[in-house]
Amino acid sequence: MKVIIADQINEKGIKELEDVADVVVNTSITQEELIEEIKDFDAIIVRSRTKVTRAVIEAAEKLKIIARAGVGVDNVDMAAATEKGIMVVNAPESTSITVAEHTMGLIMTLIRKISIADKSVKEGKWEKSKFMGIELNGKTLGIIGLGRIGTQVSIRAKAFGMEILVYDPYVTEEAGAEIGVRVVDLEYLLKNSDVMTIHVPLTPETKHLISKKEFEMMKENAFIVNCARGGIINEDDLYEALKNNIIGGAGLDVFETEPPKDSPLLTLDNIVVTPHIAASTKEAQRDAAIIVANEVKKVFTGEAPKNVLNMPVLDPETFHAIKPYLKLSEKLANFLIQAAKGNITEVNITYCGELADFPRVDVISRTILKETLNSILTEPVNMINAPTIAKNRGIVITESKRSEAEGYKSLIKIEIKSDEGELSIEGNATREPRIVRIDKYWVNVKPEGTMVIARYKDIPGSIGTIGTKLGEHGINIAKMQVGRQAPSEEAVMVLTVDQKVPVDVIDEIRALEHVYDAVYVQL
Ligand code: NAD
Repeated sequence: MKVIIADQINEKGIKELEDVADVVVNTSITQEELIEEIKDFDAIIVRSRTKVTRAVIEAAEKLKIIARAGVGVDNVDMAAATEKGIMVVNAPESTSITVAEHTMGLIMTLIRKISIADKSVKEGKWEKSKFMGIELNGKTLGIIGLGRIGTQVSIRAKAFGMEILVYDPYVTEEAGAEIGVRVVDLEYLLKNSDVMTIHVPLTPETKHLISKKEFEMMKENAFIVNCARGGIINEDDLYEALKNNIIGGAGLDVFETEPPKDSPLLTLDNIVVTPHIAASTKEAQRDAAIIVANEVKKVFTGEAPKNVLNMPVLDPETFHAIKPYLKLSEKLANFLIQAAKGNITEVNITYCGELADFPRVDVISRTILKETLNSILTEPVNMINAPTIAKNRGIVITESKRSEAEGYKSLIKIEIKSDEGELSIEGNATREPRIVRIDKYWVNVKPEGTMVIARYKDIPGSIGTIGTKLGEHGINIAKMQVGRQAPSEEAVMVLTVDQKVPVDVIDEIRALEHVYDAVYVQL
């Protein structure tokens, strides 16, 4: 395996990899050189200098993983990587403590007026009364976003004797109570916090989350810190709030435009700013290098990396619970794709019974798509690119859930629609993988081996003629399953056979009287 390290990363990360891979360190490689050379590499590690563009990704022939030794992946073309089935990983946990410490630093600088006091002393002044501060002890900190960084901030703020309020719609009151914080709504947090700190991602939901209305709800001397992403605070409104003393002060490490050239905010005394350095410590960089090196190592040794950004990752407990259904879904999809006819236009997946409550059925859906598309396309399809490839080909995918599982604990139903009709299959994996229904007919078939599936009119002699035809060609029937709704109507027969069945034998079966259709499936 070959890894290229295209940006400077900590030595410890490089050492981790040298045991398992051929490591090339070229931290001055240009875009043109990278496009030329990437074809030889299985993995690339970057920080922010190297841009892993679509051109780089398209030129890659063996690339399996793009690792960003840090958090943001703005320098990686995620869509191109996903389309090509290349995983993108980062090291989000590497900076949590570093950013939390910087947040505390900004808070302290603000409430003790450290930066302006520093400037004043350096100007030869001694203005002790001008820099009266406040204590954190006994004050309330409002944390917006209780993820990795927010949690680390809460631990540090508690050591300062602060009460903690949290606004995070994805954290329950119970989960908050477990770590000694009170989960409240945003309005309560804004009205009751002495200091607020933001640790949410920038999303359409969080864009300008803190604007004029929110500043007006805050305490008169409240302080706010943003070490998350520019744009979460509306900077025009922040300027007005600071200038008109609606709040006490602000600390910013991130800005809507970076650097914040000519921003009026920079003219104010009650703001402390840093140039997006909250994550910049030697320890964070060392940890990021070690974390991504280990992620790359995992890919090389067949283990699952944990920080994959373009693929769902399961925790071990969920994986254990879902594993039998992953296996079953592969079998069902393979069966269906061989038995169905025409060009697929739609794949409908239904999770029934207990399975409908499984937390991560999306992983089963990706498995189904991967298996289905791999059988019909020459381009490699994996769990990462399966949904994108399906979408690009205009295949409609639906996923639905049903509490009823027709007497079973759980069922997966997959229905394929094509320009020549539709076919569905249902399976259960409570004890072992089983096909339990083909279209409307209930069966009980182990999804393995070589099978002939025939639809026929359920009248005396029909089964015999099919068996005889196979016998004429020296094909032995190992097992037979019949599914029917009523005598004399259409029924389905699944024959597990000991030999491969040539296409012309299937054609002969199709031509038999009372046989409507026959297909051959190999699982
Ligand atoms: P995380 O994913 O662990 O936590 C984010 C939290 O925000 C989650 O708990 C989530 O439930 C919550 N959240 C999401 N949407 C929300 C909403 N609308 N309202 C309230 N809460 C919401 O992320 P993290 O690692 O803690 O990082 C937090 C932020 O810090 C990110 O924006 C990240 O980009 C930024 N960051 C900045 C720097 C820097 O250099 N300044 C470095 C690292 C991370």
